[in-house]
Amino acid sequence: MNGPGCAAGFRHHTRYARSMSGNRKRILIVGGGYVGLVTALRLQKLLRRQLKRGEVEIVVVDPRSFMTYQPFLPEASAGSLEPRHVVVPLRRVLDKCDVRTARVTRIDHARRIATLAPHVGDPYDLRYDELVVGVGAVPRTLPIPGLAEFGIGFKTIEEAIGLRNRVLDKLDEADALPYSDPRFRELRARLLTFVFVGGGFAGVEALAELEDMARDACRLYNEVKREDMRWVLVEAAGKIIPEFGEELSDYTRQRLEERGIEVKLNTRLESCVNGHIVLSDGTEFDADTLVWTAGVKPNPMLRDTDLPLGPKGHVVCLPTLQVKDTPHAWAAGDCAQVPDLAKGPGAYCPPTAQHGVRQAKHLARNIQRVMQGKPPTPFKHKNKGAVAGLGLHKGVANLLGWIHLKGWPAWFVHRTYHLYAVPTLNRKVRTVVDWTLALFFRREIVSLGTLHSPREEFAEVAAESAPQPEAASRTPGQPVPKAGAPKAG
Ligand SMILES: Cc1cc2nc3c(=O)[nH]c(=O)nc-3n(C[C@H](O)[C@H](O)[C@H](O)COP(=O)(O)OP(=O)(O)OC[C@H]3O[C@@H](n4cnc5c(N)ncnc54)[C@H](O)[C@@H]3O)c2cc1C
Repeated sequence: MNGPGCAAGFRHHTRYARSMSGNRKRILIVGGGYVGLVTALRLQKLLRRQLKRGEVEIVVVDPRSFMTYQPFLPEASAGSLEPRHVVVPLRRVLDKCDVRTARVTRIDHARRIATLAPHVGDPYDLRYDELVVGVGAVPRTLPIPGLAEFGIGFKTIEEAIGLRNRVLDKLDEADALPYSDPRFRELRARLLTFVFVGGGFAGVEALAELEDMARDACRLYNEVKREDMRWVLVEAAGKIIPEFGEELSDYTRQRLEERGIEVKLNTRLESCVNGHIVLSDGTEFDADTLVWTAGVKPNPMLRDTDLPLGPKGHVVCLPTLQVKDTPHAWAAGDCAQVPDLAKGPGAYCPPTAQHGVRQAKHLARNIQRVMQGKPPTPFKHKNKGAVAGLGLHKGVANLLGWIHLKGWPAWFVHRTYHLYAVPTLNRKVRTVVDWTLALFFRREIVSLGTLHSPREEFAEVAAESAPQPEAASRTPGQPVPKAGAPKAG
């Protein structure tokens, strides 16, 4: 380890790491999402003796101090789950690891050095022996005019809750404009139009859950009815959620359309400058909310590493999850190109949590095997199917490729599956509690949008009593001018 901040970095080790000394082997896990968390959890168990004896140290680096269970984001944004319950605090569950809240900006694997950029302070280098890369994916955007300024993604808890607050804020704002007053017609239409671009899992689930919540919320408004809102799903391909197969994909589209949602297939977003939406089918309208969920691409930070990358920017992996031609480096999840042995030559594992979690468990076992002098084994997983929630008591599921479920049974399977899959017992219990409460009380429909700018109100009040510019520049000892006193001419 070198660099200016290395000493400080060591001082901030966890209790566990601090008590260790000597020539220990450092396993660096970059990313604390699905792959990072599950790999670290497994390694904590598998290597507990080595960890105790101080022979091994596990460092997990992520700019967030928590892992996000992304499949629950739509339910969190709909108010069915408490936001804090869909994230897992890394320090609590990885108590035998050294968790660092920082961004890895560079990896020089030839020298076994990663550069960490903490939120405050200078970047510093960290030496390691074994590398695990699980930095996930970022939204795949296109050069569409207005998108960078106007769009919002749906991949983080901040975005999910920000979007929920935004939808409820728009209902509040529209409700204050009387429906019968023609002066407000255009403004109301704009406030109440919600556009989602991308009809994959994330887009369909987010739209369906939020529309369901907004429909429920309408009961509480005098001037906003469901038919005043416009929800639009724009999809460039001819199907939404194609992973479900033709029948369930068509079923999902029909259910959404029955709820008054416009599903525009074979259509692209051409422009959205200042909320003026232009679609490739010639439609133009104004909207205050545009959500971009049109796929993901590997994290671009991988370009600042010396790891081999594939044509789309993934880390190229062997079936053993070792990085190709790169000893002591491993990768998995959305950022990795892992051969899909269950499908056959030329196929790669899809970017799903289902694969990421299993790869992470396998990867941890393989690291242990290599440390024991045994050869690593190849990863093979046959897709178990897919489930999606479409709002309260509505869903669609394709299990093992041949069991098709719709409506309430699919929704039940969706919830049961995710309850099983969400990491840690603590989060499982909290999820059950949230769902149980929702059986007896209606979901929370309150926007806490002001949470995002907590200083606004105080700053406004404080500004009134703030020192005037001339007072601020007064030399010490000069008398304070009385309020209202005439200024010197
Ligand atoms: C709304 C939504 C719903 C989904 N639903 C499903 C579903 O139902 N079923 C399913 O199988 N999959 C689902 N997915 C996909 C699934 O969430 C991903 O496949 C999974 O999260 C991938 O895991 P990962 O560890 O590769 O990446 P992530 O879980 O995204 O973790 C990547 C981590 O790397 C960190 N990171 C990023 N850059 C750096 C850096 N420079 N340095 C250090 N750390 C960094 C990030 O902060 C993050 O914590 C869904 C995704 C979304 C967005």
